[in-house]
Amino acid sequence: MNKPLTNIHMHIFTSECAPPNFLRVQTSFLLKVLAPLLKPLVERDSVRRFLSRANWLLNLFGRANRHKIGRYIGFMDVASQYTEADIFRIALKAAKTHDPQPRLVALTLDMDHMDNCSEPVVNYQTQLARALHLKKLYPDTLFPFISADPRSRGGGELVRYVRPYFETGVKSHLKEGILPYCSGIKLYPAQGFFPFDPRLEELYRYAEAGGIPLIFHCTRVGSQYLGNNIEALIPPEPEMIMPVAGNPGQAEALAAKEEIHARIARYRAKGWIRNNTMGVNDNACDLFSHPQNYVPVLLKFPNLKICLAHMGGSTEVSYMDPDLADEKGRKASGHRRYRRLQETWKTDGHNWARLIRDLMVTHPNLYTDLSYTVADLDSGLVRTNIMRWLATTDLNHRELSERILFGTDFFLAEAEKGEPTLYQLILNTLPHHLHQLTRENPERFLQKTAAAV
Ligand SMILES: [Zn+2]
Repeated sequence: MNKPLTNIHMHIFTSECAPPNFLRVQTSFLLKVLAPLLKPLVERDSVRRFLSRANWLLNLFGRANRHKIGRYIGFMDVASQYTEADIFRIALKAAKTHDPQPRLVALTLDMDHMDNCSEPVVNYQTQLARALHLKKLYPDTLFPFISADPRSRGGGELVRYVRPYFETGVKSHLKEGILPYCSGIKLYPAQGFFPFDPRLEELYRYAEAGGIPLIFHCTRVGSQYLGNNIEALIPPEPEMIMPVAGNPGQAEALAAKEEIHARIARYRAKGWIRNNTMGVNDNACDLFSHPQNYVPVLLKFPNLKICLAHMGGSTEVSYMDPDLADEKGRKASGHRRYRRLQETWKTDGHNWARLIRDLMVTHPNLYTDLSYTVADLDSGLVRTNIMRWLATTDLNHRELSERILFGTDFFLAEAEKGEPTLYQLILNTLPHHLHQLTRENPERFLQKTAAAV
């Protein structure tokens, strides 16, 4: 059977779906302060055009911030001047230059709990309805993932909520049969919940039984929780899904639990978990996204297909190999940013890229995707480490390249490089793995949910 090219990770929501303080996801303190004023301004076409040209003004923010603002403007160019349909068509055009009938997986994102002090103009349910409207127009091209957040609903209620989106759908234009409205579930723990939250247990059971794939955002920082109540979201010993007693993985799950609790204590001691009104929760939110949080879930639901997106992020990828990292670290050791990174790794206890790779070796249904990180494939170190990752074998002697998925993170990655450039980068840098990453692996990942029945 012909396997279509699939972009497993892209987005089509507009800036109205993000809360007004969204700009606070940037790490710069100055931008956090100005965020609520800047978002409505930068949403205007004329303001963005002015800013792109006003070098003198941007220079006032310093070089690093200037770069960040520039990236944000590029991102807002897509997010605010188009409808979902327009955003989708830009991504589709780029994909179609490589396959006349591609598949785009649009991850919807519940941002309703991202900030307890402000609300998005368009709530999640409307965002989802708009994505499903597009699914009716492009049944064989657009494959939405529904978003789940245990603070919206949990347990059996959450399963009752998602079920109709997988069990009803639209008629395929290409084949006989019906395609489900949604093809998987997207979760974004950095917005303020742990993936081992017991309120998600029923959802995992349902997804495992139905072969429904899950994608979790997995990098440090990102669009994290921006509210003023972070301490309540991170108790010293949060409740955790655990494998049942007698499970052979029990000891491994307990060891992970102990490490997770110890990490929370270290972050607390550093003063990194502290209520504040500026959305300065960057370090604290790493605790939600941490790859180790998936250990008890993977042990309890060994057949659950989980993708930890972005390979942990390109910074983690570039430092994942201790030999290469030492050399790179020596060169960077004088820089403040590198010293901050070292402090983070020391307090955290792990390099995330290395940890995701190691977990993939022992857990045969764990995947990762190249999205966003693909923008740094032109860096020698990122490329070398990804090639090594692809060639690493798991306990069944199968290459991890079988569980790495191609994605771009359109349009969030617009802040780095345009969509056609990202396709070209993977074409140029990983030509021998192209068929596997863009066609075979996504086909296996979406096997049960993207076929007409
Ligand atoms: Zn994304």
